[in-house]
Amino acid sequence: MADTALPAPGSTSRTRVRRIPEKSVGDRAVLHAVLDAGLVAHVAVTDDDGQPYVLPVAYARDGERVLFHGSTGSRLFRLLADGRPTCLTVTLLDGLVLARSAFESSMHYRGAMVLGRAEVLDETAAEAALRTISDHLLPGRWDDIRPPSRKELAATLVLALPLQETSVKVSDGPPDDAAEDLDRPVWGGHVPIREQFGTPVPDARGAVHPVPDYVRRWTR
Ligand SMILES: Cc1cc2nc3c(=O)[nH]c(=O)nc-3n(C[C@H](O)[C@H](O)[C@H](O)COP(=O)(O)OP(=O)(O)OC[C@H]3O[C@@H](n4cnc5c(N)ncnc54)[C@H](O)[C@@H]3O)c2cc1C
Repeated sequence: MADTALPAPGSTSRTRVRRIPEKSVGDRAVLHAVLDAGLVAHVAVTDDDGQPYVLPVAYARDGERVLFHGSTGSRLFRLLADGRPTCLTVTLLDGLVLARSAFESSMHYRGAMVLGRAEVLDETAAEAALRTISDHLLPGRWDDIRPPSRKELAATLVLALPLQETSVKVSDGPPDDAAEDLDRPVWGGHVPIREQFGTPVPDARGAVHPVPDYVRRWTR
């Protein structure tokens, strides 16, 4: 259930979509749905020299925050842990748009952006958050595998970024061709893109077990 006390996506001066604002979606339920559908987020951080970096990370939404983790040895994760401003994006690529002109050729997508500063979770909250991330990426897996040891937890920074200042942009529909281009002798339309899980491949270095039922149930 979306928290209606929090700002709607795209409702702050920094997150108001100016470029093609009709693609902006102000519904927090859609923000949640985009974040829940993705597996990878890109997290930006700028170092002391002003050089921006963008880190791809595994993540999960937990209510009104996004959880992600990295090594305590990571310079960029330590900057995020120090509360450096960040921007996290999740992009779902839904198709290629083949317009009759180069200018209008584009993509179908659902994208979410979150601005703010991440907080470091303490050890107990960190372990719960790691389970939440695992449940998002690998539903059913956590109870089968060895949980993190104290030493492994100590080597892991688990961060939470609040879904306070956010935006959502969704692009769909037919190509936005100008009327004078519609009759050009070229195919126009879009080609959907679907992400798909393949057949599980066992690691024969250890004992080979049947593929778990929860893995068989994964679809995408
Ligand atoms: C898969 C994909 C491919 C794209 N390819 C291109 C491309 O090739 N060229 C191009 O110009 N644009 C592309 N876009 C759109 C691009 O992400 C920007 O929305 C666009 O460039 C406008 O940027 P701006 O800074 O002028 O936006 P503004 O409207 O000025 O941005 C204002 C605020 O709107 C929000 N916002 C802007 N873009 C997004 C977004 N994508 N998702 C969520 N919130 C957003 C942010 O909060 C931002 O601070 C692509 C988007 C996706 C998801």
